[in-house]
Parts: sequence; C-alpha cells; structure tokens
Amino acid sequence: MIDTIVIGAGWSGIVTARELAKAGHSVLILEARNRIGGRARTFTEGMHVPVDLGCSFIHGYKEGNPAREIAKEIGTTTYLLKPTAGLILGKAGILPPSIAARLRSNLAAARASALDISHNSHPAPSTSTPLSDVLFAQDSPLFAESPDRGAAISFARTLEVPFGMTLEKASLRWTGWEDAYAGSDAAPEGGFQPLLEKLVEEAKGNGVQVRTGETVSSIVRTDGGVHVATDTGSGYSARSVVCTIPLGVLKGTASTLFQPSLPARRLETIANTHVGILEKLVLAYPSVWWPEGSAVGSYIFLPSQAATAEDPVTPKAVLDLNTLIVASFAAPTLPKQHPTLLFYLSPTPALQLAQFSPEDVAKGAHEFLVERFGVSSPVPAPIASVMTNWHTDSLAMGATTTPSIIGEGRGPLDFAELGKPVWDGTLGFAGEHTDPNHRGSVAGAVVSGLREAERVAKLLRKLNEG
Ligand SMILES: Cc1cc2nc3c(=O)[nH]c(=O)nc-3n(C[C@H](O)[C@H](O)[C@H](O)COP(=O)(O)OP(=O)(O)OC[C@H]3O[C@@H](n4cnc5c(N)ncnc54)[C@H](O)[C@@H]3O)c2cc1C
Repeated sequence: MIDTIVIGAGWSGIVTARELAKAGHSVLILEARNRIGGRARTFTEGMHVPVDLGCSFIHGYKEGNPAREIAKEIGTTTYLLKPTAGLILGKAGILPPSIAARLRSNLAAARASALDISHNSHPAPSTSTPLSDVLFAQDSPLFAESPDRGAAISFARTLEVPFGMTLEKASLRWTGWEDAYAGSDAAPEGGFQPLLEKLVEEAKGNGVQVRTGETVSSIVRTDGGVHVATDTGSGYSARSVVCTIPLGVLKGTASTLFQPSLPARRLETIANTHVGILEKLVLAYPSVWWPEGSAVGSYIFLPSQAATAEDPVTPKAVLDLNTLIVASFAAPTLPKQHPTLLFYLSPTPALQLAQFSPEDVAKGAHEFLVERFGVSSPVPAPIASVMTNWHTDSLAMGATTTPSIIGEGRGPLDFAELGKPVWDGTLGFAGEHTDPNHRGSVAGAVVSGLREAERVAKLLRKLNEG
C-alpha cells in the first residue's frame, strides 16, 4: 500500500510529496489538470518572455521565505526586484510629484493608524467593523492636507488588489494580524511553473508517482487507511492522504467528497472563509510607446469617470470607472526588459470585465491606455494578449484566500482550523488556505507542505511501530 496520496500538484502538494519522498516514503500525487503547478501558471504564447499568470513573486525573499531555498536547491536562478519609479494618473494625466507623494504618504499614515487601532485599542474593534470605516473616516490621515477626498479614496482602493476584496469587506479587527514574510521580492527565471516542473522531476527521481488528468471524486476512510477514487474510474489506497484542493473548490465539494463527512464546524469554516478575486490582463506590444517606459515600473490609474447606477456597457467603461494598477515590464525592475503591460484587476473591475469576450477586453484596454496616457502619435496595437479567469476556473474558484472578512466568528484561526488533520491524522490538509501567517501566498503553500510532510512522516513512523 502507498504511504501517502497527495491530492493536487501545486506548490503545497509538490512540497509535501518531495519531503515525504526524501524521508523514504512512497508517494502518489493525483492532479486534476493536465499540467503541473496549479495557481503557478506561466504563459508563453505570443509573449516576449514567459509571463506568470498566477504567482509571480517570492515575497519576503530575504526575510525567510522558504521558497528561496527550494529555488536554490533545484538550480533555478532568482532575481531580486530592483526598485523602479511609479506614476499615478488622474483624470487629466500624470499627477504632479507633490500630489502623488501626498497620496502615498497619506495612505501609509492611514494604514498605520488602522493597524494601531486593530492591534492596540481596548476593547478591540468589533468583528463587524470594516477597515473602510477607519480608512475613510472624516478625520482619517488619508485626507490630511489633501483637497481631493475622491482621489484619496480611489488611491486607497489599490489595496483591494493584494487583498482580493473590497475594503468594505475586510475586517478592521484582524487587519495586519499576520506575520508574513515581507520586504524584498524576487522572481524565478523562466517563471514559476517551470520551477515546479523541475521540482516534480526531482521528486519522481526519488520515487514519487504523478498522475495528471485525474480529478479526485471521493476520499473514504477505510480500516487500513484511506481510499481515493478519481473521475477516470481509478481507485487508490494509502495509509494517509494530504488534500491540497483549493478552498474555493472545497466550498463546492467538501460536503460530499469525504466519507465520513468532515465535522460540521469544519464545513462551516470552509463555507464562510473568504476566497478573493485577483485577475491579470496582459498586453504584449511590438515596442514601448507609453510615457517614461524605460524607467517607470508601475502606473496607477485613478477612475476618470464617476460610478453610476447602471452597469458599464463596454470594457473601456469598466476601466474608466475603477482604480487600476498596471505593471510595465519595459522598466529595469527585472533583468529582461520587454514591451509588455500587465493589469492587476481587483474584484470590482475583474467581475465587470468577465462579462465581455477576452478579445473585446484586450481591445478596450488598449483604447483605455492610449487615451489615459494621452499619446497622440500613432501607437502600435498589441501583438498578443491574455486575461486570466481564476475566479471561474473550476480547479481554483478564486485567486487565494483573503485577509479575514467582517463577520461573527471569522478570524485568522480559521486558516489554522482548515489545516487541522482529521480521521486520527490519516487525512491531512495543506495549501495556502491552511496557514494563518502566510495565507494567500506561495509561502503559505510551502510552509503548509513542509508542516504536513513532517506531521505525516511522524504518523507513518508511529504506524510502523505498530
Ligand atoms: C493572480 C494571482 C497572483 C498571485 N501572485 C502571487 C505572488 O506574486 N506571490 C505569492 O506568494 N503568491 C501569489 N499568488 C498566490 C499563489 O499562487 C498561491 O497561494 C499558491 O500557488 C497556492 O498553492 P496551493 O498548492 O495551495 O494551491 P494550487 O496551486 O491551486 O494547487 C492545488 C492543486 O489541486 C488541484 N486540484 C483541485 N481539485 C482537485 C481534485 N478534485 N483532484 C485532483 N486535483 C485537484 C488543482 O488543479 C491544483 O493544481 C497569486 C495567485 C494568483 C491567482
């Protein structure tokens, strides 16, 4: 009988399998997709260089992120990001440096004030108070010496990109609770998916079996361990299972996937812990045509139109209404510069754009950029484009878990609970959603994989000792 079946070949599953195999255990990975990587997906079609559509940075590279060591062990070169300039664009074009600096420093001060309230106020804020209540309060540092409240609020909405949710949904009480690896960022050469493919090849060399294209459809406790069935009609028995199915997917399947059923409390946590939305839209150009292209690494667009009750009727109208972060790969942030722009889309524009075809979105985004950059000379059309759909991808159902949301009973311990093993330890859980400090990141997936490998190795030793 196999020692451990690992469900899912993303970061967490591969790390779990790799560690268990290194410790001499037999491991089978079952992956539903026909590719390795999960939310690590590197896209090449028509691109100048491979572009990551899921994770793209090892956050906290110099601050202890274990993905750094793994990349080194596997022989993948990583590049620390070089700081490059950023510009903010308002309705009338690029904001003067003094106004841009004011927006940035006010948001930093407002966040620091919210952190202070979240961590130190006594009594602690209610779990139903949203972060937006203090950020947008009348006397918030967000508005200090700033005549334009609308611009300050729109600029604060840049936070909705990494959060994957609106500020009205984020819990004030748990803001900044996590102790995540943060500070420096690095990117692996060639992208994240090839890195994980290399890790899988190494794991195979250590005896790990990998079956792709097999969706696990039931996980059943048996006398000797666990039986796992897949949609191909195959069944596998093992002494233990580590399930790394993303939380967004578990929301739809957890009540029927496991026999016996998961405890009611766990099902409630799965149902009510939030999975966020973050999509990427990439436009590759034949040459750089946007302003200060060789120096500026990111452009923040504030809305040029005020929202109305009606839904926007074109992709360009969606972009006009929202705060957008656009990264430029033409700047020397990474060693290889190329004429590509990448929109990071927070939930509001991402959901609105999802109503249109990818072709229409790319066309609208190009028109938007030409207008907002105010370039009057002819500009080249994109040579290739791609937009992600993580929130409708049936094997992801969202980008990642978000910071804790408002609501009775919600908090960071939800992520610890999602990682607790059941069935006397024979069914474990790993994945970004199972680590309270690093949730939502590569670090969370890696840390949870290391945690589960260590736990399962102990369990197997105990079972061997009889
Ligand atoms: C747009 C975007 C940008 C991001 N940027 C960053 C970043 O820059 N830095 C960072 O640290 N993190 C980033 N992240 C987060 C990071 O990508 C994830 O946290 C991490 O990849 C999750 O790994 P995982 O192993 O938990 O899950 P996954 O990678 O999702 O792996 C789970 C696997 O399970 C498989 N699966 C699902 N259901 C079944 C089933 N029934 N049977 C078999 N297999 C199944 C899936 O196909 C998948 O391969 C980003 C995510 C997104 C979406």
